Amino acid sequence: MMGIDWSRWMNGYSCLVMVVPAEVAAVKNFAMTMRKAVVLVSGGLDSATTLALAKAEGYEVFAISFDYGQKHRFELESAAKVCESLGVSKHVVFTLDLSAFGGSALTSAIEVPKDRNEAQMNAEIPITYVPARNTVFLSVALGWAETLGACDLFIGVNAVDYSGYPDCRPEFIEAFEKLANIATKSGVEKTQIWKIHTPLISLTKGEIIKVGLNAGVDFGLTHTCYDPAEDGRSCGHCDACLLRLKGFADLGMSDPAKYVQ
Ligand SMILES: [Zn+2]
Repeated sequence: MMGIDWSRWMNGYSCLVMVVPAEVAAVKNFAMTMRKAVVLVSGGLDSATTLALAKAEGYEVFAISFDYGQKHRFELESAAKVCESLGVSKHVVFTLDLSAFGGSALTSAIEVPKDRNEAQMNAEIPITYVPARNTVFLSVALGWAETLGACDLFIGVNAVDYSGYPDCRPEFIEAFEKLANIATKSGVEKTQIWKIHTPLISLTKGEIIKVGLNAGVDFGLTHTCYDPAEDGRSCGHCDACLLRLKGFADLGMSDPAKYVQ
């Protein structure tokens, strides 16, 4: 028989599921447990906001970024700046070269689509989709989290102002959360309940920016563009730039990122 599932009401403090009659011990353990979370940080606007929200919820944050064979380095430089700015216990850049497979405009010579309107963005999964990327990334993050004794993963996926990627949808996150509870030692032994946190999943880009600003994100440190100039300035025409620019415009604000004129 299971004891109290503290995770249902102690957001951020949730890890322990104690067996009756150890509930008194659970309270003691709860008070002493460091609340660790692994946050996926790409260097973009969404992941920076997600990191800030994890911090605001009181987690000790361990950040992971992926050097996955993307065509430019600017987002990894931004990830390091964001982590330094918001403060994390550790930032790991994990090398996992998906360009070995190619198949995406972000990891191969395929051109990044430009100036697509909303209807075009919604019509199909674009060539900037990196095959199974979030499944791969979350799997690596899951392994690190279990090693750390954490059971909370944060990922800044968004299913509103996004490019139709299948691995940004709530169905995917729910399925991965189930997987985490089945695939890990801690999940099987019921010492932890895994939770995949997606605080941005139902927000518009404008709402994400607003939440991020309130949580102390410096968006000037973030990098969003799929196809930046050699000096790092954003193109202003790829899907990622267009969605970002629309987000700031919806708030009546200008984007602090630098764009090619
Ligand atoms: Zn761009």
